[in-house]
Amino acid sequence: MESPLTCLQGVGPALAKKLEKLGLFCVEDLLFLLPLRYEDRTQLVKIGALVAGSRCLVTGEVLLAETVYRGRRNLLVRIGDGSGQLTLRFFYFSRQQQAQFQAGSSVTCFGEVRRGQAGFEMIHPEYRVLRENQDAATNDSLTPIYPATEGVQQGRLRNLTDQALRLMQKTPPAELLPANVTDRLGMPSLAEAIRYLHRPPPDADVQLLLQGRHPCQQRLAFEELLAHYLSLRQLRALAETEDAPALTGGETEVARFIGDLPFELTGAQKRVIDEIVADLSEPHPMMRLIQGDVGSGKTVVAAIACLKAIACGVQAAIMAPTEILAEQHWRHFADWFRPLGIEPAWLSGSQRAAARRESLRSITDGQAKLVVGTHALFQEGVEFDRLGLVIIDEQHRFGVHQRMALRDKGVSAEGHPHQLVMTATPIPRTLAMAAYADLDTSVIDELPPGRQPVSTIAVPDTRRSEIIERVRSACASGQQAYWVCPLIEESEVLDYQAAEASYQMLTNALPDLRVGLVHGRMRPAEKERGMQAFKEGLIQLLVATTVIEVGVDVPNASLMIIENAERMGLSQLHQLRGRVGRGALQSHCVLLYKPPLGRIAKERLAVLRDTNDGFIVAQRDLELRGPGELLGTRQTGLPDYRIANLVRDAELMPRVQMTAEAMRTASEKNAAAIVRRWLGDTRPYGKV
Ligand code: ADP
Ligand code: MG
Repeated sequence: MESPLTCLQGVGPALAKKLEKLGLFCVEDLLFLLPLRYEDRTQLVKIGALVAGSRCLVTGEVLLAETVYRGRRNLLVRIGDGSGQLTLRFFYFSRQQQAQFQAGSSVTCFGEVRRGQAGFEMIHPEYRVLRENQDAATNDSLTPIYPATEGVQQGRLRNLTDQALRLMQKTPPAELLPANVTDRLGMPSLAEAIRYLHRPPPDADVQLLLQGRHPCQQRLAFEELLAHYLSLRQLRALAETEDAPALTGGETEVARFIGDLPFELTGAQKRVIDEIVADLSEPHPMMRLIQGDVGSGKTVVAAIACLKAIACGVQAAIMAPTEILAEQHWRHFADWFRPLGIEPAWLSGSQRAAARRESLRSITDGQAKLVVGTHALFQEGVEFDRLGLVIIDEQHRFGVHQRMALRDKGVSAEGHPHQLVMTATPIPRTLAMAAYADLDTSVIDELPPGRQPVSTIAVPDTRRSEIIERVRSACASGQQAYWVCPLIEESEVLDYQAAEASYQMLTNALPDLRVGLVHGRMRPAEKERGMQAFKEGLIQLLVATTVIEVGVDVPNASLMIIENAERMGLSQLHQLRGRVGRGALQSHCVLLYKPPLGRIAKERLAVLRDTNDGFIVAQRDLELRGPGELLGTRQTGLPDYRIANLVRDAELMPRVQMTAEAMRTASEKNAAAIVRRWLGDTRPYGKV
């Protein structure tokens, strides 16, 4: 099974190269190249029984073939089988093809059934004209469709997997799961599962297969989840062997800082701080994730960790995903730390050259004890003197890759820096298990006292004027409000235009109010000026795009209107809503939507109306949208699973975790082999 692919018939060096690009190196790799879906060519479907949208194998007699011009040339072939008629439609065809379809000849074809002008049709079906007395050939098993494979045809892949499956009969792939697990879960054997999924028998439960819930799929999904989990745990184990500066001092400074805060820390904050302090005192890098709902007070926890590090003589760096958030942190930290004689340095991509040089110099010579910035912090040319602690805020924008890059960045003679990541997007437990197995987790599960849950309503935008009136009266009574504009898919320009339009509309409708505007296209300084004016109460109503999504903190703001709320994700809405409800006043959030609402959109808005608990919101978001959206994997490259699905297979995670922990001690070799089998020889998360 470890034999090279070139031992298979038809695989020369050129094809082997192509296959290598797909991550296929040996025969066993082919077995683990699993079909994405299946087509049913095991039986002929009567034309009269066709259903639109299905993909079927049909056979019939050519009744008529004609070329028509409907804007472009179409070849239409009508076939019938006694039960009904079907049109085959071709846009691209040769003269020979045209000539093949003689009236009276038999054709067998496979394609998607669509509703056309004159009954059902298939567009560009696969077809074969049958010779006289030749029967339409059906397949014995469902036809597997393999993942997109540039330059390698499906037919070729079927042929290669056929060969691999034949070889498998002689030498089945090693069963790497502990027998007690496969037995307890009643799993099919690995060879059985692989054979079944590559060539499901005609009586296979197609629906179960298509949903990915067949026991054979679950058998492999389990192993794949296990592979990813084990690989993250390997990474973690590696960190435990690495050195980091043990930060043990600084108690007095920290105690004084906490004593001087204008508020009492919550129990949850204290607990998490204790966990961090314990980690920092170890001579190995901390790798900890703090989860805490919006407004749970993560920033001050971060500040205390920084202070501890600085008091122990190392540098601390804090990184945020957006300029606006980074700058706000910088201001907060400056307010907190200046009295202690610590001046935080600032580093961002849009900084002027001179200021940047100055920051870089102080980072390098160690004068800057604390550095705040965006990801510019970790680009080329930034050299720390003695970086001991890295904090990443709003982790959901950063993934494993970035985490790893940061660890490498801070490497010095003393080892790796300690690492703390903070996220306001609570991750459901099973998902966190899969995604963050390399991190320890702390949860700030308590809000500061006196917070009132934000009361949320959903209102159709036909009632916009009512809502504007509401804004007017709230602001007239001294409160402040946000008006958040629709997010337009990934387009800053459109975002900005929409915000600009709302701004015009609101300034006209509310001539007595001081209205401000902040959007993503503004320069950071301009943005910050707008935010600052809002903070100081100079602006009463702030029109904003979703740039305010993360971290902005203005306690006097008690009303938020979100336009086109039906287009936004749940977690995002929850984040936005977290900008209000930070002061003593009862806060309100109005979700304006464009009617009519679909069922899912209705459900989503209802979730927000019914709960203020970020964990429940996240769980529902996961169910409604899938893990990619929630973790922001598009940007961060969380692995694509071949067969597992984190939502569908979430219930496997606790068992995966238990199995992994057992294997790590009892069968290290098998654990390593599983990782290699599913993730290849290359380390999945970059160099470590
Ligand atoms: P998040 O967890 O969303 O980042 P922040 O750290 O921005 O939350 O904190 C939100 C607000 O709550 C800030 O104004 C902060 O000063 C305040 N805060 C934090 N901890 C407490 C506390 N224990 N008691 C009262 N207010 C607190
Ligand atoms: Mg925050």
